[in-house]
Amino acid sequence: MPRAKKKPDIAETPEGELSRIRGIGPAREELLALAGVRTIEDLLYRFPRRYLDRTLATSTAFRAGVETTLIVTVENSYLAHGKRSRLVVHCRTLNGEPLSLVFFRGVGYFRRVFQKSLMLVVSGKLESFGGMQIAHPDFEVLDSEDSETIHTGRIVPVYPGTEDLKKRGLDSRGFRRILHEVLDSGINLPGLIPEDLLLKLGYLKRMEALREIHFPENMETLKRARNSLKFEELFLFSFHMKSKRSARLAQERELWPVPHGKSEQWNQLTQRLPFALTGEQLRAIKVIVDDAQVNHATAFLLQGDVGSGKTIVAIAAMLHYVANNVQCALLAPTEVLARQHFRTFMDLLALSGVQIELLLGAEPKKSKAERIDRIGRGEADIVIGTHSLLEKDVSFASLGLVVVDEQHRFGVEQRETLRRKGKNPDVVGMTATPIPRTLCLTEFADLKLVTLLEKPAGRLPIKTMRLGEDKRTGMYKSVRNHVTQGRQCYIVYPVIDESEKSDLRAATDAFQELQTAIFPDLKVELLHGRMKADEKDRIMSDFRAGKVQILVSTTVIEVGVDVPNATIMVVEHADRFGISQLHQLRGRVGRGSAESFCVLMAGPGTEEAEERLAAVVSTENGFELAETDLKIRGPGEILGKRQHGVDGLRIANLMEDRKLVELAFESAEQTGNLPESALEFIKKRFATENQSLS
Ligand code: ADP
Ligand code: MG
Repeated sequence: MPRAKKKPDIAETPEGELSRIRGIGPAREELLALAGVRTIEDLLYRFPRRYLDRTLATSTAFRAGVETTLIVTVENSYLAHGKRSRLVVHCRTLNGEPLSLVFFRGVGYFRRVFQKSLMLVVSGKLESFGGMQIAHPDFEVLDSEDSETIHTGRIVPVYPGTEDLKKRGLDSRGFRRILHEVLDSGINLPGLIPEDLLLKLGYLKRMEALREIHFPENMETLKRARNSLKFEELFLFSFHMKSKRSARLAQERELWPVPHGKSEQWNQLTQRLPFALTGEQLRAIKVIVDDAQVNHATAFLLQGDVGSGKTIVAIAAMLHYVANNVQCALLAPTEVLARQHFRTFMDLLALSGVQIELLLGAEPKKSKAERIDRIGRGEADIVIGTHSLLEKDVSFASLGLVVVDEQHRFGVEQRETLRRKGKNPDVVGMTATPIPRTLCLTEFADLKLVTLLEKPAGRLPIKTMRLGEDKRTGMYKSVRNHVTQGRQCYIVYPVIDESEKSDLRAATDAFQELQTAIFPDLKVELLHGRMKADEKDRIMSDFRAGKVQILVSTTVIEVGVDVPNATIMVVEHADRFGISQLHQLRGRVGRGSAESFCVLMAGPGTEEAEERLAAVVSTENGFELAETDLKIRGPGEILGKRQHGVDGLRIANLMEDRKLVELAFESAEQTGNLPESALEFIKKRFATENQSLS
C-alpha cells in the first residue's frame, strides 16, 4: 500500500472538515456528526474510555487460560466437521510453537483471508484442545510496508460508542481506525498552551499528548499524556474564568458612579438589633460595602454554614445601596422563605422609612399588578420574592443589587434573568452549601468569596443520633418531654415530588397518626408544598409564635427557615436524603442558645446511605460534610447539573485531580495572552450558557 495517505491540505486545516480524512465520506461524516464530532479537532478529543493491553506477549505467557497477543504465520487451514463445523487455521508463533485459530462463524470468509504464509497479530484467550488454540481471535494482518498495527499488538484504545452508531457501522473498532488515520495523516493542531510552560512543568506538547492518548507507547507514556491533556483542559478553563472576571472588572457602573458608604438606616438598625454582630459578620459587611464603592460591578459569593447569620449581612449590604437610591432585590427559592425574609425585614426596618415589597407567585391579580407598578416606578427600595421576581412584567426603576439566597437552588439563567432587570447590578449569592476548594478555584474563580467562618457565640452543638425502628417509642417520649418544657419540634418526611399524590400520602398519613394517636394532647400541624399559600403562611406564623408544638413537614422547610425555639428535628427515612439535605434540615434547629437535637430515623440502608448517615452523625461541620459528599457523589451532582459549569471538562476530574487544578489555576493566573487557537477552543468548549453566577 502506498504511503500517500493524506488527502491534500489536511495539515493546513487543522480544525477542518472530516471529509478530508481518507476513509471518511459523506455518510461517515453524517454519522460522526450524530456523535457530536464535526471537526478533526472534535475527533481527536474523543478520548478512549479504556485500553486493552495487547502488547506482544513474551513466550512465558504461552499457556492455557492466558489472554495474549502474538505474531503468527499461517501454515495451512482446513474445514473440520463435527458437532459444529469450523475452520481451523494452523499457524506458528515467532517462537516456533504451533497455534490453531478456530472460527465457527464466517468460515468461508476467513478461509479466503488466511492464506499460507500470511503474517498476522492475534489476540485472545489461549485454550488447550490437543494443541493450543484461540477461538475467534482479534486479529490484524501485518502489512509488510505498514509496520504499525492498529487493533492489536499494542495498547489498544476502546472508544465509547452508542448502540445507535454501532448499528450503523461505527463501533469502537471503526473509531480506532479513523483516529489512526487522522494521526497518521500528518495533521498538526496548533498548540494551545505556551510551550515554555509545558516544558517547565514537564508536560507533553499537544500533538504528542493526543497521539499518545489514542495510541500509547506504553502505560507510562499514557499516564503522561493523560496528565498533559488534563492540564491543558484545566488550564484553559481557569484562563476562561480569569477572563470572565476581568471582563466584569472592566464594566463601569451606570447607575451610581460615585456611591457613598454611609447609611443612616444601618447605623440606626445596629443600635436596635437584639444581638451584637459577630466579627465575621462585620468583616463580610465591610468587604461587600467597600466593594460597592469602586467603579465597577462586582459579584460575591457569601458562604456560611447554616445558622451563621447571613441574612443580616444581606440586610446591611442592601441598606447601603438603598442609601444611594438604588433598588435591591432578594430572590428566595421558596415561598415560605420569602415570607420569612419579608417578616424579618419588616420587623427590623419598621421605623426606617425603607419601602419593602413582597412578590409571590400566587396572588390576586390586582394587588400584584399594583406591587409591580410600585417596583417599576422605583417606589419599592427592597423587593423580596420567589421566582415571581423573574417574570417578564416585573421591571425595576434602578436595580443596583441582586441578592440570591440559597443560590445553589437557582440555575444560572434564572440569576441572569434577574440581573438583566438592572443595569449591570452587583450580585451577592448566599449559600450554606460549602464549595470545596477545588471547585472554588475553577468554577467560582470569577466570584469573590466571602466566608462566615464562625457562628454567633453561645450556640451549643446539635446532638445528632441515628435511630432504628426499635427506638421509635423512646423517641416519641423524648419529643414529648422537650415539647412539654416549651420547646418545639419538626418531623420531616421525604417527599420527592410534591405533585405526586402517593408521595404526599405517606406524610399525610403519618401526620394523622401523630395528631390523633401519639400526640393527641399537643398541637400538631402539617405543612407541605401543595397547600394554599395563605394556609402555609398561617401555619408558619403559628409555629413561629409557638402556637404549634410539632410541625410535620415535607422538605419545604429544608432551607432558610428560622425558628430559634424549635430545638428538635426528627428526620424520617433519613437514608433517603443526601448529605447536604440532611445538613440543611438539621440547620433548622440549633438556632438559639438552648441545646438542640437531631434524630435521624432509618432502617438499615445501602452502603452509601450508611456512609451518609455516619458522616452527618459524626460532624456538624458543613465543610467537612461537603468534602465527604464530594467523595461519595462527585462534583457534578453536588452543584446541580445546570450550574456546575464543568460540562466542558472531559478528562480532568475536579476531585481526583485536585493538585492539577491548583497548578492549572495558578499557571493561568500568571499567563497574559493565549494564541487565537486557544481562545477559539475555550469559546467552543467552555463559553456556553451554563457558567457560574456572573
Ligand atoms: P443563615 O446563615 O442560615 O441564613 P440566619 O441569617 O437565618 O442564618 O440567622 C440564623 C439565626 O441567627 C437568626 O435567628 C438570626 O437572627 C440569628 N443571628 C444572626 N446573627 C446573630 C448574632 N450575631 N448573634 C446572635 N444571633 C444572630
Ligand atoms: Mg438563610
